Amino acid sequence: MERRDFLRKAGLAATGAVAAAAGLAGCGQEKKEEAKGPAVQPKKTYEWKMVTTWPPNLPVLQTGAERFAKRVGEVTDGQLKIEVFAGGELVPPLGVFDAVSEGTVECGSGASYYWAGKVPAAQWFAAVPFGLNAQGINAWFYSGGGLQLWEEVYAPFNVIPRPQGNTGVQMGGWFRKDMNTIDDFKGLKMRIPGLGGKVISKAGGTVVLLPGGEIFTSLERGVIDATEWVGPMHDLRMGFYKAAKNYYYPGWHEPGTCLEVMFNKKAYESLPLEFQHILDAVAAETNMWSLSEFEAGNGAALQTLISEHNVNLVRFPEPLLDELRKLAKETLEEEAEKDPMSRKVNEAFKKFKAQWGVWGSVADNAYYSVIADKYALKK
Ligand code: CA
Repeated sequence: MERRDFLRKAGLAATGAVAAAAGLAGCGQEKKEEAKGPAVQPKKTYEWKMVTTWPPNLPVLQTGAERFAKRVGEVTDGQLKIEVFAGGELVPPLGVFDAVSEGTVECGSGASYYWAGKVPAAQWFAAVPFGLNAQGINAWFYSGGGLQLWEEVYAPFNVIPRPQGNTGVQMGGWFRKDMNTIDDFKGLKMRIPGLGGKVISKAGGTVVLLPGGEIFTSLERGVIDATEWVGPMHDLRMGFYKAAKNYYYPGWHEPGTCLEVMFNKKAYESLPLEFQHILDAVAAETNMWSLSEFEAGNGAALQTLISEHNVNLVRFPEPLLDELRKLAKETLEEEAEKDPMSRKVNEAFKKFKAQWGVWGSVADNAYYSVIADKYALKK
């Protein structure tokens, strides 16, 4: 740190020396200006590009990435400008990690489970079925060693990750039929990505991968029988209530999906130290902002879905969730065997979750059951 400061100061001094030399080489005009006092050095500015995996204007996700860039600009007084490109505008949505890794752009925003094909261990930092919720995953990142592990996982790719958002507990999804037992998943065609999708496959379902823009039509026409998306705020916007009436909860497959911002290591380290701190601080601020937007927006949207669109809000039966939990455990153990880093991350995750889960059950869980009001949602 001290060395970096020294180098930076040395750099500024060198810039001053060059300016002084230019002045000496100049004519009398410069001499006149010199009499007014030393010239103010223009502040060095940095112009960065950020690519995201999200469609343009997608609330909280894309707008969160844009908010991040805007805040960095404000806090650095315009010295670090980040231009944001939505998915496909500069690179394909799933090309974000490679673009940051290769230094095509300085930073990116997405969710780490998108890179599972390239970096299997990355999945644990986004969403784990029956894993940590937003509070839990933030506790793991900031105070339980999770972020250091994440940095270790991305290090071979020259990428530095930071948590930048969280959806909170998602919804279980929209189903055209009733889901009573685990057998109801047999032959069910569902749009559900990631580890949750692997669990549904184990239960006998068929996982269908669809781009966001095709989900509604596929559900409406019966090409798929069910889909998950995010939570009430985003699901209302997609209009799924017009295609399927049963809205199941909880989102066991994505209990607190973490969104990420990632920096190309060389670009990040080429910034003055205070700008690196600013990027970290604004990422943490955006993480808090994003969760707040979801928590506030989901409550209001759920009420709209119930009272205006007559949605049938249903909790998955407990025995069905128990079966899914068993299948999720098998899935995670299989995934963890894919490479040594996945095994290491899975072990650390399990250890943290076991300890945190006990605390959660005596703290938040007990408190929620005390304040729950079954009649708060008005038809
Ligand atoms: Ca989802």
